[in-house]
Amino acid sequence: RTVYVNGDYLPEDEAKISIFDRAFLMADGVYEVTSVLGGKLIDFDGHLKRLERSLNELEIKKPAAFDDLIEIHRKLVELNGIDEGLVYLQVTRGAPGDRDFAFPDPETTEPTLVLFTQAKPGLADSPAAKTGIKVISIDDIRWGRRDIKTVQLLYPSMGKMMAKKAGADDAWMVEDGFVTEGTSNNAYIVKDGVIITRNLGTDILHGITRAAVLRFAREAQMKVEERPFTIDEVKAADEAFFTSASAFVMPVVAMDGETIGDGVPGPVSLRLREIYLEESRAVAV
Ligand code: PLP
Repeated sequence: RTVYVNGDYLPEDEAKISIFDRAFLMADGVYEVTSVLGGKLIDFDGHLKRLERSLNELEIKKPAAFDDLIEIHRKLVELNGIDEGLVYLQVTRGAPGDRDFAFPDPETTEPTLVLFTQAKPGLADSPAAKTGIKVISIDDIRWGRRDIKTVQLLYPSMGKMMAKKAGADDAWMVEDGFVTEGTSNNAYIVKDGVIITRNLGTDILHGITRAAVLRFAREAQMKVEERPFTIDEVKAADEAFFTSASAFVMPVVAMDGETIGDGVPGPVSLRLREIYLEESRAVAV
């Protein structure tokens, strides 16, 4: 596999990052994941805009190659022959040459830019989307700026492991009695034909797939309510699903061992998945 590091395209085993890189020592970095369907980038513009916002919020300098990011994505997709899969991008505050809590001088420390691809054949035709997946609920103990897409992913990783141990596929996090989001996705329920998902704030990531799915839902005259919902509402819902760049729209059929709706992917979830895949493929770049 060819990867990209700070201006160079290299075989993955030749790519190097300093041990003083702030992301390695302090999780001081941000990332984006863009999916690839038919060799083209899905929702690329949204991911680029959110990357810029994450960098601004943390006062991380834009990497020199920022304006070339679409070309870098395309070149890696081509070099690695990706038809269906993902492009992972990470920008860190860089490697100042020593460990220090204070941010290094941006005049002398350049950000680190890394990209790599992951082939995922069958991404769009996922078997999990046909059966639906199971979630557990866990406390949301993450920091308060979840709207910034940082590489601090230890708790979400632990959440996935807690889910696995409980015989489920993923975890939805709960704060003050309300669902915030999934470990790596935005959470939704459907009740009496209304699609309900938590409103945007600093307590969840502003999903790029979320924005597109809500736009398509409204265009299709579906009712959308952006508000927090409880675990009890999930268990009493007609349907549940989540959205993310790597899973698109994924039906959720059980929570904490209790069946949601009929225990199979619901019509609203399946329709939204179909609309999302069709519409986003049509404008992929
Ligand atoms: N929420 C969290 C915590 C995430 O990590 C992600 C994606 O990785 C999402 C939501 C979904 O965002 P997007 O649709 O932009 O992939």
